[in-house]
Amino acid sequence: MNVTNNLQQRLKYHFDRLTQPFLQPFIKSFHMSGAYFCPICSNNIRSFHPYGDPPRENALCPVCKSLERHRLDWAFIQKRTTLFDGSTKRMLHIAPEASFTRLFRKVANLDYLSADLEDPRAMIKMDITNIDFADNTFSIIYCSHVLEHVQEDIKAMSEFYRVLKRGGWALLQVPITAEKTFEDPSITDPAERKIYFGQSDHVRRYGPDYINRLQSVGFSAEDLKAGDFLSEAECDKMGFNIDRRVFFCRKP
Ligand SMILES: [Zn+2]
Repeated sequence: MNVTNNLQQRLKYHFDRLTQPFLQPFIKSFHMSGAYFCPICSNNIRSFHPYGDPPRENALCPVCKSLERHRLDWAFIQKRTTLFDGSTKRMLHIAPEASFTRLFRKVANLDYLSADLEDPRAMIKMDITNIDFADNTFSIIYCSHVLEHVQEDIKAMSEFYRVLKRGGWALLQVPITAEKTFEDPSITDPAERKIYFGQSDHVRRYGPDYINRLQSVGFSAEDLKAGDFLSEAECDKMGFNIDRRVFFCRKP
């Protein structure tokens, strides 16, 4: 996809986000009653839309704008974590996605905190390589598609481990786009980063060996696939691949 198409797609995405609150009832009635299901907005829809560079089929929810990774993570959280068990928990959400913020805020007995280095919509400003909280503070950490932007990613993982309570869990998601993790700090030009790392603001490509980095800071980490906790029919219905990964970390 060329730069113009990419820009058009991004502009459309942001235009849709701004107009969505007013248009959503009409969008919903048009798209609903289909064969697909979005667990983020809980709507049955006719189809997911193409999205990405290059565009991926069946990616974007036309109602809430969720992508495959959001739907998979939410399905995992619902099926395999303690989020909804009613016990009192403190949660840290990095680079908060608005749709997730709305869902997390509805969870009973959850003391929710969102943080970001730059985004003013987050509740606090935070550098994840130097977290200003005491050891063993949070019961849950959710951080998705952030570490591929961070030069000192292992330092950030180490900080997540430090502030997580014993027995707590973290979902630390990254895109897996290589057979083996590849990074080169000397590549700083955005155009070169796009060529080598797939996006102008990424600093590496992760491979499945990403899990070794998580384990190296102390996490008991699992590399799960969607098919480990969902049927193929469920994955199809929610519009993501059965092989899509979840990196689930616990602090022993
Ligand atoms: Zn949706």
